Amino acid sequence: MGADGKIVIIGGGIGGLTAALALLQRGIDVAVYEQAAELKEVGAGVQIGPNGTRVLYALGLEHDLDRVHVVASGKEIRLWNTGQTWTLFDLGQQSVERYGVPYLMLHRRDLHAVLAGAIAHADPGALHLGKKCVAVTQNESGAIVRFEDGETVRASAVIGADGIHSKVRESLFGKDRPEFSGIVAWRGMVPANRLPSTIKMNVATNWVGPGAHVVHYPLRRGELLNVVGIVEDEMWQVESWTQPGSKDEMHEKFRGWHADIHALIDAFDVPYKWALMGRAPMPRWSEGCVTLLGDACHSMMPMLAQGACQALEDGLVIARCLEKYAGKPEMALRHYELARRERANKAVQGSAENAKRFHSQQMADAAQADAYVAGEWQENKIKARYDWLFDYDANSTPV
Ligand SMILES: Cc1cc2nc3c(=O)[nH]c(=O)nc-3n(C[C@H](O)[C@H](O)[C@H](O)COP(=O)(O)OP(=O)(O)OC[C@H]3O[C@@H](n4cnc5c(N)ncnc54)[C@H](O)[C@@H]3O)c2cc1C
Repeated sequence: MGADGKIVIIGGGIGGLTAALALLQRGIDVAVYEQAAELKEVGAGVQIGPNGTRVLYALGLEHDLDRVHVVASGKEIRLWNTGQTWTLFDLGQQSVERYGVPYLMLHRRDLHAVLAGAIAHADPGALHLGKKCVAVTQNESGAIVRFEDGETVRASAVIGADGIHSKVRESLFGKDRPEFSGIVAWRGMVPANRLPSTIKMNVATNWVGPGAHVVHYPLRRGELLNVVGIVEDEMWQVESWTQPGSKDEMHEKFRGWHADIHALIDAFDVPYKWALMGRAPMPRWSEGCVTLLGDACHSMMPMLAQGACQALEDGLVIARCLEKYAGKPEMALRHYELARRERANKAVQGSAENAKRFHSQQMADAAQADAYVAGEWQENKIKARYDWLFDYDANSTPV
């Protein structure tokens, strides 16, 4: 058994890597164990709101991110059948003035590579690949992580950043019981040069309609458009980034929608489909010197674009707690959970509420839809929904 008593992180996704980098920058030894044999992310986009950007900048990654991110000029709502457009908020200069940092659109692989590169620079031995955790136990001297290959590692604290199907969560609290939300996300990326000029490349767009919505935004200097179409549908129940669907099936799901939506579907090589599962907010994340982070403890619907942002916030806050309460891991984890749980659970709830808002049947009829959209996306309502998220600073929130 490797009895080195480091902080151990299970999972090298966005949340796990953020926590690892924040710990290394504080001079705290950490080992990350990732099940994949190769460190890479799925081919998809991720929107990082100002609260997430603040974390990445606090880690010193601004310069590296400048080379790969896109700042869209604004966010617009469009009506599913007529294409009527409402400007939601500015994502350019006005947003930077308001929040101090930009709203970023990133290819997940680019964000992941920037985080992994910074870790490799800080400690080339910190990442361990091909290590699938199967269980975590603990005794009075710390935690013991067991891997599929039979190896065990002793840790002073364990952070389960192992995503929606977390083994660490299962070790702490037993098997979870996710419920199918009745919603399926169709997603993929399309090259900009395959799209008609009616689709604005530099705007993050949210098409809303009865029972479905479609989000698209630019990636990689505007060379790619990330597209996610979310439909109420009982027929598909696999929760995975990598399950392919067909364009014909996707066209059928969006029958009656605007021609721009069908042009987007035509531009895919293959659309992928992901069944969105609902998990109730967890009443506890930690037990002794083992805790959870990111989707492992607060997976959420993608309708607020906050899952990765909350994982980024968790990563920085947990590192600040382990630094502040050095040598007292249980106390550090208690303070981490206290600082984070209520906020992350509020984001879980806000995401579910947005699902209902985006899919209201009131949009079936264009005349009614106008009043509905104008009412739901009034400036004061948008501020109430987003300011508490975007104003938060994980680098200064009390721990
Ligand atoms: C369609 C869609 C769109 C989204 N868009 C956005 C968005 O725009 N903005 C946003 O903020 N969020 C978005 N999200 C949410 C975001 O993708 C997640 O919240 C985020 O990836 C969570 O990061 P994580 O590090 O907690 O988990 P993950 O990214 O799932 O990483 C977990 C890691 O742990 C590893 N692992 C798993 N099990 C084990 C094990 N037993 N042993 C070792 N390693 C293991 C995995 O291989 C993986 O590398 C979206 C989600 C979906 C489904």
